Amino acid sequence: MNLIRLVYYSQRNPSLSLELRDLIASCHRNNTPNNITGILHYNGTYFQQVLEGGRAEVSSTYHRIAKDPRHINVILISCSDVRERIFPTWSMGLHEGMDDKTKRVFLRYFSNAEVNPETVNVDSLLDVLQDLSAELS
Ligand code: FAD
Repeated sequence: MNLIRLVYYSQRNPSLSLELRDLIASCHRNNTPNNITGILHYNGTYFQQVLEGGRAEVSSTYHRIAKDPRHINVILISCSDVRERIFPTWSMGLHEGMDDKTKRVFLRYFSNAEVNPETVNVDSLLDVLQDLSAELS
């Protein structure tokens, strides 16, 4: 079975309340039985998420997520076959916030800490997310 990696970017819906604990609980509940792993970075306004797993499982999960009213302006950055997972450990690791340490990680790979989803280099974004995932216990 082919393994794919999907990366997207979205914006929190400011009109709806967001309880990250509930959101992550549903990630664990649904991703674990589907062998989906990944990371979700939330900086207070924007989400960047990586989903890794089988084609069918990642597709149906992404379509469900894209319809979720808790976020808007969902932009698919990349979706491709991969040989192995970068984020094998978490059914969905959550990295939250944009403190100075996190900014420095973005600045290691980008000229500024603001990611433009229209132009972002996906490999650099994955480098950032991999570095951030190293901070998760
Ligand atoms: P529940 O979690 O019980 O939700 C039932 C319904 O209520 C869903 O339609 C949900 O969208 C809606 N809902 C729940 N809370 C709220 C709220 N506060 N405001 C408005 N509507 C609400 N799901 C995964 O399975 N895997 C993921 O990796 C994943 N990542 C996500 C990342 C982001 C940024 C967001 C916003 C959502 C993500 N989700 C993920 C959640 C996904 O969109 C679905 O809500 C979830 O998969 C449905 O899970 P459930 O069937 O257990 O229903």
